[in-house]
Amino acid sequence: MKIRLGISACLLGQEVRFDGGHKHDRFITETLGQYVDFVPVCPEVECGLSIPREAMRLVGEIDHPRLVTVRTRIDYTEQMQTWAERRVQELEGEDLNGFIFKSDSPSSGMERVKVYDDKGMPVKKGIGMFARAFMEHLPLLPVEEEGRLHDPKLRENFIEAIFTFKRWREILEAGPGRKQLVDFHTRQKLLLLAHSPEHYREMGRVVAHINEHPMAEITSRYQDLLLEGLRLKTTPKKNANVLYHLMGYFKKDLTADEKQELLDIIDHYRRGDLPLIVPITLVNHYVRKYDQAYLKEQYYLHPHPLELQLRNHA
Ligand code: SF4
Repeated sequence: MKIRLGISACLLGQEVRFDGGHKHDRFITETLGQYVDFVPVCPEVECGLSIPREAMRLVGEIDHPRLVTVRTRIDYTEQMQTWAERRVQELEGEDLNGFIFKSDSPSSGMERVKVYDDKGMPVKKGIGMFARAFMEHLPLLPVEEEGRLHDPKLRENFIEAIFTFKRWREILEAGPGRKQLVDFHTRQKLLLLAHSPEHYREMGRVVAHINEHPMAEITSRYQDLLLEGLRLKTTPKKNANVLYHLMGYFKKDLTADEKQELLDIIDHYRRGDLPLIVPITLVNHYVRKYDQAYLKEQYYLHPHPLELQLRNHA
């Protein structure tokens, strides 16, 4: 089953922009596209505007701006909001694992969109009108902009989140029993720890009391914590802590030399001298060499397909 991602249609190469052009992003279509089914959304076209059309911008209050054409000042705020309210309800039924928005757009931008005051001065603090409706309706779903996906760390975090959420969805679709939830949690433990030690502990408490509450209550609480936790970014410090923690599983296996080599490599990674893939590759080597059953099952060591090369730069 492929991951389903909502996406601003122009990023797929669809010629829907105000000038009839597109903003095709090759990483999205050619690399990510191998693992993802996209659900394209162009708010401006879907709410009834033509191609080409006059360019628009946000004007007025940063938190409640209006969507107005640049030259003729036609106000499309109500038209866009009415359509967006309906469309986000439809998208909720699409089983999306996340959304990739087009940056800087008054309709689709996720953050730092220009909002103009009455003197025509812009402040980069706005949110595109559809992006705002989407994030308010589905506040925990992983979201990113195509521009931020060029940052290796943000890219790795987002893709790890959507792959983890997909695995969770598969568990939900199978109608999870208590055992399935405990198994899922056990295999995600180190990955959760790398995002948020607090969420990791709280999810552990939910799982520990699994027999004391109705299953629907448990899965809903667990899902909220999972999505909240995944939104917190991993950092070299958090990853290094997980790697040190992970070394404890090899206490009796590693020779003094192997232990020292691994410690040195984790240290180099923490200081930014090496990418994450280097300590992870060495750990995976020891997992195979010493047949570490618990670590073999940990998604932290294989969170997404290697072909995405996400940890080569993170
Ligand atoms: S940025 Fe959004 S509204 Fe503009 S063309 Fe792309 S999908 Fe359509």
